[in-house]
Amino acid sequence: MRDLQHFDVSGALLDWYDRHAREMPWRVGPAARAAGTRPDPYRVWLSEVMLQQTTVAAVRDYFHRFTTRWPTVAALAAAPDEAVMGEWAGLGYYARARNLLKCARAVSEEHGGQFPDSYEGLIALPGIGPYTAAAIAAIAFDRAETVLDGNVERVMARLHDVQEPLPGVKPVLKEHAAAITPAKRPGDHAQAVMDLGATICTPRTPACGICPLRPPCLARQRGTAADLPHKSPKKPKPIRHGHVYLAQHSDGGWLMERRPDKGLLGGMLGWPGSDWSEAPEPSPPFEAQWRELPAEVRHTFTHFHLILRIHTAPLEVDTAPEGLVIIDKHAFRPSDLPTVMRKAFDLWRGQ
Ligand code: SF4
Repeated sequence: MRDLQHFDVSGALLDWYDRHAREMPWRVGPAARAAGTRPDPYRVWLSEVMLQQTTVAAVRDYFHRFTTRWPTVAALAAAPDEAVMGEWAGLGYYARARNLLKCARAVSEEHGGQFPDSYEGLIALPGIGPYTAAAIAAIAFDRAETVLDGNVERVMARLHDVQEPLPGVKPVLKEHAAAITPAKRPGDHAQAVMDLGATICTPRTPACGICPLRPPCLARQRGTAADLPHKSPKKPKPIRHGHVYLAQHSDGGWLMERRPDKGLLGGMLGWPGSDWSEAPEPSPPFEAQWRELPAEVRHTFTHFHLILRIHTAPLEVDTAPEGLVIIDKHAFRPSDLPTVMRKAFDLWRGQ
């Protein structure tokens, strides 16, 4: 057993990472990096934005499609908004897609297509917060920034047997993470801690027996690992209700709305409908014999659960009511819809 003061945590992590780094489409592995290959900041940035609150498995396909269609930040900056929002559909948190475009355009127009190579330069860009700025600075530019995601928080809480709950204890965990951030290979170190949290020091069943931090880890010594980190109890999410209206023209076109840029699902295409509240008034987009489907959409957003009732009617005019658009049947792609709107479409199609 070794105490934490006398154990080279980062050295052990880097040795482990050299042998066990996960392969990811946006990553330059430790061997290639040692041989001089530099990561592409565009790919690092894109992956970090996509990975916020989503898993690696969910992001791979999106990352592949984005980088095939827009291989550089300049290509993404020049893309039409609708094309980018369409490709993003299904990843959720649509404000991030809008910020993604703003950021690409800022890099392209104000920085000559080159991402700034420091935390301060990166955090000044639209849509880049402290976590993402630190992650890009470390991974793409080998800056000794401390990167704190959920995996790193868990590893730090266990290594030091921190009993206070998240989120209040975050600053303490960040200090612990900062204390082991090395001046040499900080990018590999950041990825090593994240990989350890994702593959060995996992939430429910940490594999302490094969962990490189096993000697000094306090939670392992005290048998508390599987319970950490503690979390303050969450408030239950409220339930909101809403109505959406699916109207199809006999030529196959759909009546839709482009949601305002600000707010939930901002900038995305969706079905016209009511606001989402405790008891919304039905608000059909035009007078008709609307038929309500016998099933409802249930969807959970970050701050609330939503129950949507779906109404349908034929669209008998050729011009869309004010504020709405008719999407031609050839241009309509259900996969471009945000998940909640696609669920409504799938229910309609299933009827
Ligand atoms: S020894 Fe166990 S609890 Fe400690 S860091 Fe490793 S996997 Fe996590």
